[in-house]
Amino acid sequence: MRFSVIAALVLLVLASCKNDKVERVFHTRNVIVIVVDGPRVTETWNEPGRPNIPYQSALLQEGVLLENFRNEGPTWTMNGHCAITTGNYLNIPNGGNAVPSVPNIFQLFRKQHFLDSTDVWLVASKGKIGALANCGDPMWNDKYLPARNCGINAGGATSGYRDDSTTFEIVMDVLENHHPKLMLINFKEPDVSGHSQDSTGYIQGIQDTDEYIQKIWHFIQNDATYKNNTALIVTNDHGRHLNGVSGGYGGHGDDCEGCRHITLFGLGPDFKKNTIIKNQYNQTDLTATIAEMLGIVMPSGQGTPIKKLYR
Ligand SMILES: [Zn+2]
Ligand SMILES: [Zn+2]
Repeated sequence: MRFSVIAALVLLVLASCKNDKVERVFHTRNVIVIVVDGPRVTETWNEPGRPNIPYQSALLQEGVLLENFRNEGPTWTMNGHCAITTGNYLNIPNGGNAVPSVPNIFQLFRKQHFLDSTDVWLVASKGKIGALANCGDPMWNDKYLPARNCGINAGGATSGYRDDSTTFEIVMDVLENHHPKLMLINFKEPDVSGHSQDSTGYIQGIQDTDEYIQKIWHFIQNDATYKNNTALIVTNDHGRHLNGVSGGYGGHGDDCEGCRHITLFGLGPDFKKNTIIKNQYNQTDLTATIAEMLGIVMPSGQGTPIKKLYR
């Protein structure tokens, strides 16, 4: 009797270790993604002493940084955000006047997990980001859309850009009142000040978003619904030109290292702590990672889950 119990246990262990493919149990039930629009790594994580992101720098003790994260598609706002929402680098226009051809992670999550629209949210300072809620595939067009609040008076693509301080207030309201299971947030700075060649505003934008990130994480850690089961992921849609390339920090959109090189900072129950990872990954891998943690099947996604993030 005792022998058969031990034999059964040994077989069970052997079976579960086969090919090292032990099924991972995730603790993450909710994912909040913050996209800080268009900083260069030389003014964020790669600047010695990290003077512009003191809050995130301190939070590194609790989180994991991918310091060689990449935009490997068109280095524009819509394409960078679209890579995260769909897991694909698509050539959609940057004006918000067209929708992606494949369904997004919100739609797949809603359909597969029987969620309401207010369980998944797209909140953006830039109105055009609202176009990423929908997709052109006739099987998915206008179906399973996330709730959205993008642009001036939440007016969407044609409404223009609102202040990040307004977006931050809306984010806190949505978190408190709806507790989204998946939410993507866009802060327009530092991109907008960068385009205006306003170096003070550009740096201020990085510092302001850093403070919003800290406040959002503080809320998550002190909220009964979110505590210990929620991931916060901070990343970028694109960087900006290196000094000496097409006007430096004032623009972006090409193949230069400054435009491609971005970062991903993750906090959450399944992520490593106090860890910096040097391997290269791109934005479609982030989508695959979120899908894996939340149990979303994404046949249309091109990325691979970033297993090195997991503890
Ligand atoms: Zn952008
Ligand atoms: Zn560039």
